[in-house]
Amino acid sequence: MKAVVYQGPNKITLQEMPKPSLLEGSDAIVRITKTTICGTDMAILKGGVETVDAGRIIGHEGVGIVESVGSGVRRFKPGDPVIISCITSCGSCENCRRGLPSSCVDGGWILGNTIDGCQAEYVRVPFADNGLYKIPESISEEVALMLSDIVPTGLEVGVMNGDVQFGDVVAVVGAGPVGLAAVLAVQFFSPAEVIVVDIDEHRLDLAKQVGATVTINNKNNDAVAQILELTNGRGVDVAIEAAGHPLTCKVVQEIVGVGGRIANIGVYSQSAELHKESLWVKNITIRMGVVNTTTIPLLIKTIQSGKLDPSRLITHRFPFAEALLAYDIFANAGREQAVKLILNMDKASVIEAKVYQEDELVNLIVQHVMAQAK
Ligand SMILES: [Zn+2]
Ligand SMILES: [Zn+2]
Repeated sequence: MKAVVYQGPNKITLQEMPKPSLLEGSDAIVRITKTTICGTDMAILKGGVETVDAGRIIGHEGVGIVESVGSGVRRFKPGDPVIISCITSCGSCENCRRGLPSSCVDGGWILGNTIDGCQAEYVRVPFADNGLYKIPESISEEVALMLSDIVPTGLEVGVMNGDVQFGDVVAVVGAGPVGLAAVLAVQFFSPAEVIVVDIDEHRLDLAKQVGATVTINNKNNDAVAQILELTNGRGVDVAIEAAGHPLTCKVVQEIVGVGGRIANIGVYSQSAELHKESLWVKNITIRMGVVNTTTIPLLIKTIQSGKLDPSRLITHRFPFAEALLAYDIFANAGREQAVKLILNMDKASVIEAKVYQEDELVNLIVQHVMAQAK
């Protein structure tokens, strides 16, 4: 089967790999129909995730059809259309039973990290009864794919950890896929204002379309002053950090008001300062973490009822054969106006899969940009 394989810092290949097989009774093999690239995959590509070894199939977000199940799988059978959670959980270890499957001692975020992942024609999903969710007929595969990681992450780690209340003033700092997912999810709680900060005008436009009431371009580094002015010096009730950078970490600390909450979603590859000397007196709560994806069933219901539409985060679609081109486009997300890219695993695109040379990639990108311009 074809798969995207990490080959060490700054090198991935689209290549032939052995098809996975059932190893445990609780496993399922899923034939991937759609997968996508996450910011975390870009961090892996840059060599920023030490647990990922060369030779690993990457990707932790996917939807597909169950191909086979182990003897212990009760809830799924071959032919079922499923969402694959980015979190693997045994359901019985101490952390799983405490409601923290993201810290499962036999799981957590392992797909496309310490075990082979979803950017492949087939993937082995351990503890399938806990890690798979059936896709109802009324929900498209593309929309379902947004529930593998980004929408639950925006909701659980941003909005719910931020304890957003009716009438709150909320700021989301960083309008990448997960920041925008938080903007979508925060609408469930009827905040008074949703202020979104980024330096990319296209992403700020999209933020407006999915529910931001105010957008601020921080290219001049004056977002803090603008937010304090907007709130009459009071600051915001909830500051959601969704970029994982020391600068955005500083911004959320400076805009949070008395009794406010900081919810950190961003993944940091370097340390960031925490200014307790100015925060302590304001009675601030700070939370951070990894998504548990326990909200997937609720999100499925809200999509079915028409209250949530994550399809608006999808900007690009590629056949799987062009996976490396998609990586290039995602790496230049600002220039390419890319948010969430879908990789379609239809048969034709897999057969044509090939490894591109540098100049071929440049040509493909030019063609792609021209096509988008039309
Ligand atoms: Zn992801
Ligand atoms: Zn567990």
